[in-house]
Parts: sequence; structure tokens; C-alpha cells
Amino acid sequence: MTEHRIAVLPGDGIGPEVMDEALKVLRRISEKYSFEAAHQEFAVGGAALDATGNTTPLPQETLEGCENASAILFGSVGGPKWESLPPDIQPERGALLPLRKHFGLFANLRPGVCHPALIDASPVKNSLIPNGFDVLCVRELTGGIYFGSPKERREEGGEEIAVDTMVYRTSEVERIARVAFEAAMVRDKRVCSVDKANVLQNSMLWRETVIRVAKDYPEVQLSHLYVDNAAMQLIRYAPDYDVIVTGNLFGDILSDEMAMISGSLGMLPSASLGSPDTDGLNFGLYEPSGGSAPDIAGQGIANPIAQILSLAMLLRYSLGEREAADSVDKAVEEAIAAGYRTGDIYRGSENEKLVNTSDMGNAIVERL
Ligand code: NAD
Repeated sequence: MTEHRIAVLPGDGIGPEVMDEALKVLRRISEKYSFEAAHQEFAVGGAALDATGNTTPLPQETLEGCENASAILFGSVGGPKWESLPPDIQPERGALLPLRKHFGLFANLRPGVCHPALIDASPVKNSLIPNGFDVLCVRELTGGIYFGSPKERREEGGEEIAVDTMVYRTSEVERIARVAFEAAMVRDKRVCSVDKANVLQNSMLWRETVIRVAKDYPEVQLSHLYVDNAAMQLIRYAPDYDVIVTGNLFGDILSDEMAMISGSLGMLPSASLGSPDTDGLNFGLYEPSGGSAPDIAGQGIANPIAQILSLAMLLRYSLGEREAADSVDKAVEEAIAAGYRTGDIYRGSENEKLVNTSDMGNAIVERL
């Protein structure tokens, strides 16, 4: 029997509530597909700050637990209780960013999916997206303007100026482009690369490099959009797109736009991946696109689907358990089709059943 090891970091707010449901799914799916999924929980974020007397949101034990695993299943971190702590030990900045850096997680995959049964939840007119949409945003996560140097504020000519530097190396663009093309190969074989090549040197290098990498994927159709146009086109007709690949800054903005037009943050998973190993598997950190939702934490009403679909991505990209991953995706679709709805996606129509976090988890497990 194949043995996998997963580090589970539930975190704060709704994190532990939705994580319980993902672990129910993991237990069922590992039985069904006969693999061993050893998982161990570690403190992160506010929970770790509480446990360590506000010393660190990422204790050494947690980091070592992650190093000994094939993947990290992450809940969410943060909340009002820790907001006034010094910035470098705040839950998100002090835990998530160091984890991404430590494990070289350069590729952020965020599916923007609007399920056909949930088009009412999208702010886009139903008539524009009668069958919903399924777009995968592949964002470069460790380069670009967020990390380039110099990054500073200084005096010049008698006034203060602020400088951020946008740098992309060919190798960085190449590796993220490959992630996008590989993803497109198992989807609809279309990649749209988003840049600002009419103005930025970075984007010119980006575009030339993506075009070169595309030659290795002759079956994939490649198109290009300037980022301002991409922001408009996604609202105009998202179903036109399959995989979008873009840099750190543009991806940050476009992936949030896609989450918004998808309808519910509670439905959207994400994966942050490192380089593939010789078997084509990536170490990765998998988490819901939303945060710790302090406004509904502790009530047992959060939508666990983003966490459960994050587990499906983990099974696919880090463990190579593709059939198991497909079967989790399918069980979620079936639960939605059967009318199960947590409050965030409930619209009050006749065929909908309003359920809590645990009932939604059970409805998905029953369909596995
Ligand atoms: P949020 O995503 O936590 O919440 C925004 C809205 O979406 C809220 O109304 C919330 O109830 C709702 N929502 C989110 N997930 C949901 C789910 N699964 N089911 C139902 N409704 C859901 O964003 P915020 O309010 O801006 O941030 C709250 C805290 O989370 C902050 O401390 C922030 O720093 C942190 N945060 C953490 C992460 C992370 O851990 N990666 C990401 C974003 C925000």
C-alpha cells in the first residue's frame, strides 16, 4: 500500500472547522483508493502565537513537520486578536510568506470556477454565463515587483520618493509557463498569457519566453492579453478562458477578480507549488482562497468545500492520486447538484437544502 505523509495546519477562525471536514474526506478516500495518508497536525498562525506566548506564528516544530511531509494542507490564519502584534510576527506575514519562501513555492494555482448550479451567486448576469465557467489562474508567486530590489523610500531632490523594482529572470518565466502548459494539457489545451508588453520591459521578456516555451506544447493554443484588457474580458465572458498565466502582481489582482465573479470564496481552493520531482510530483501548500472568516468562526456554518477541493488538489499534484482527486471533485459537484448549500451559497430556492459545515462534509463523504 502506498504511504503518504501530510502536514495538517488548521490555523485560526474557520480553519479548524473546515479542516475537520477535509480530514473526513481524506479518511474515506484513502480507504476507497487503498493508500495510507498519515497526517499530523501542527500549530500555525494565531494558534501558534497563543501556544508560544506571542513568540512566533511558525514554530520550528511546525516547519520540521512540513519538511517531513509530501505536502501541507493549510486552513487559514489571522484574526482581530493578533492584528496589533508587530508586522513580522502577524499570522499571515509571519507564517505563510516564510513557508512559501522556505519551500520555494513559486507557482500559485487558483481555479476560478462558477458551478452551473450556482450561477445565481455570481455578480455577473446569468445570461452571460448560462453554463458557469472554469478558469485556472496560474500566478508566479516568488518574483516580480513584490520581491525585486531596491525596494525603499528615500529623499531625493528635497522630497521623499518610494521605489519598488520589478525583475523577472528568463528561468523564472520559463518554469511558471511550463506549469501553465502542463495544466492546460490535462484541461482544454488553451493558455492565455497576461502581461503589459506594450509598456514594461519585464513583460516583453515574459511574452518572448512564454512563446518559446509554447513550442514544446504544440497541442496547446496560446493567446496573449494586456492586463487591463484581461481585467475587462474576464468579466465580459470568462468561459472564453481555460488557463491564464501571469506574473505576481497581475495574478494577485486577477485571481481575486476571478474569485469574485465565481460567486463564493467558500468554494475556491488554491495550490502553491514548488518544482516537480523526477516523478512529476510537486511539494505544495494547499489552502482555501478565503481567509479565517472571523465573522462566522465558531458557528459551524462555514462552507468546507474550498478546504475539501484544496485536498483534491493536494491528492492530484503532490501525491499523484489522480483518480482519488477526480472522485473528490465529482462528489462535491454531486452534493451541489443534490441541492446542499451552506449559508454563503444558499439562495432560498425550492430545491436547495440549507446545511451546516459538518452536514456539507457528510453529504460529500456519502457520495464518495
Ligand atoms: P475572509 O476571506 O476571511 O472573509 C471574507 C468574507 O468571506 C467574510 O464575510 C467571510 O465570512 C466569507 N467567507 C470566507 N470563507 C468562507 C467560507 N469558507 N464559508 C463561508 N463564508 C466564507 O477575509 P477577511 O475578512 O478580509 O480576513 C479575515 C482574516 O483572515 C484576516 O485576519 C486576514 O488577514 C486573514 N486572511 C488569511 C488568509 C490566509 O490564511 N491565507 C487569506 C486571507 C485573509
